[in-house]
Amino acid sequence: MGDFALPEALLVALRDVRSVGVITGAGISAESGIPTYRGKGGIYDDPDEGDRTVEALSAPTLQSDPDRTWRALFQIAGAAVNARPNAGHTAIVEIERKAERFVLLTQNVDGLHRLAGSRNIIDIHGDAFELICMSCGKQNQFNDPRTGATTGQGLDIHRCAAAGRAPRCPCGGVYRPEVVLFGEMLPEDKLRRLYAELLDNPPDLVISVGTSAMFPYIVQPMLVARMAGKLTIEINPEPTEISDFVAFHLKAKAGDALPAIAAALPNRV
Ligand SMILES: [Zn+2]
Repeated sequence: MGDFALPEALLVALRDVRSVGVITGAGISAESGIPTYRGKGGIYDDPDEGDRTVEALSAPTLQSDPDRTWRALFQIAGAAVNARPNAGHTAIVEIERKAERFVLLTQNVDGLHRLAGSRNIIDIHGDAFELICMSCGKQNQFNDPRTGATTGQGLDIHRCAAAGRAPRCPCGGVYRPEVVLFGEMLPEDKLRRLYAELLDNPPDLVISVGTSAMFPYIVQPMLVARMAGKLTIEINPEPTEISDFVAFHLKAKAGDALPAIAAALPNRV
């Protein structure tokens, strides 16, 4: 699978791996054509526009001007709807299939891991296709055109985006997306799973992929795994704040390095 050559020492270490945790950020989605928020070519590249987008995607704006929040969300969801999982997403599914215990922690809200077929996902920032009414609390969803399910019970994302307004519940209330907006807390149930599956009992191997790793809940699982003597790998073309303490920093794309790792893992089940 693929041409990417892993270091010999890593190939040897991978033979003993039974449990795996994978942490993904915007970099893996960028390889599917979704713009990253920050950094070169990101949607926050222009600082003024970045500030405006952060303000639009904040809890206070959602309360005072939900149409504005939704116009920014439709931009993000619009990019997601046109994207498909890449070789990196597919390799993560293969890693889950081979592992005795597996968890995927993602910062991405584009649903690409779900679409690729990953099962045990902690989408810590939520999923842009899921909705909840701010008045009655009823949950709903956008039908995901990428799954081919165009006749589902949910809302048509293209029609809602074209209207350019916040979608509304039959009760008259405004839907919010089930994503963590700027200034909001991370959901407690997902944090509890993160602690239980990555920190309390760190997997044999923890991989960080395509994230600049500035959030403590991304850095911490890598640190904890490293200190517990577990195998740690970072996959990122650029160095980050965790590059110096991981066992292996692979300066590569997710779509190149992850298939090589998936192929090198032993079959356990
Ligand atoms: Zn409602």
